[in-house]
Amino acid sequence: MSDIHANLEALEAVLADARARGGFEEVWCLGDVVGYGPDPGACLALLRGLKLTCIGGNHDYAACGRAGVEEFNSYAAQAVLWTASHLKKEEKEFLAGLREVERQEGFTLVHGTLKEPVWEYLVNQYAALDTFGRMESSYCLVGHSHMPFVCTESEGMALFGPFMEDISVRLDSRRLIFNPGSVGQPRDGDPRASYAMYDGDEAVITRHRVGYDIGRVQEKMRRAGLPEYLAERLSHGR
Ligand code: ZN
Repeated sequence: MSDIHANLEALEAVLADARARGGFEEVWCLGDVVGYGPDPGACLALLRGLKLTCIGGNHDYAACGRAGVEEFNSYAAQAVLWTASHLKKEEKEFLAGLREVERQEGFTLVHGTLKEPVWEYLVNQYAALDTFGRMESSYCLVGHSHMPFVCTESEGMALFGPFMEDISVRLDSRRLIFNPGSVGQPRDGDPRASYAMYDGDEAVITRHRVGYDIGRVQEKMRRAGLPEYLAERLSHGR
């Protein structure tokens, strides 16, 4: 999963959905646990209670002071400052200690790209080919853009295709880069939380969508004084 963004209702819905689909052994999180949403501490606590491999995203590092906010737009920067003022010291230490890249089984986990793990968006030929060139594993999992896709490499080209909902992608000899979409702030026009499950026995990875109580999250964001634009966009998945 990726880009939870302190959206506790979305995270709880994803975990419940994954359990209903047969459960999971561990969670691999591709960064941005916090930022934008109203429940950074509760999301961290929930994830840390599970068997977890988590890498850092730009919001995670900015909220704990490991990165600056110069690259953020004003809404994101406001949310980072709000988040920083609502995290405990120990939670900031956890975020500051997250690695930029992790390996799990045949996968490399990174928030952005292998060239610029924290900041670069893997959304075009150049970034995808560069990351394919740096991959020491067959598969790479990325987040950051909040846009689900599967990217394959063919004859020197990076081909982006849809990461279809509920249709398993078989892991074979092709090298692949996946983005499972965002749990807490989808931007592909579908407001439901997005995540993927990896089945190591069957060698398949499948993306799922799950609805959650968006109104409740928006109400909390308004009460917290977070920017209205950030609350509103959850309704549209944009
Ligand atoms: Zn994000």
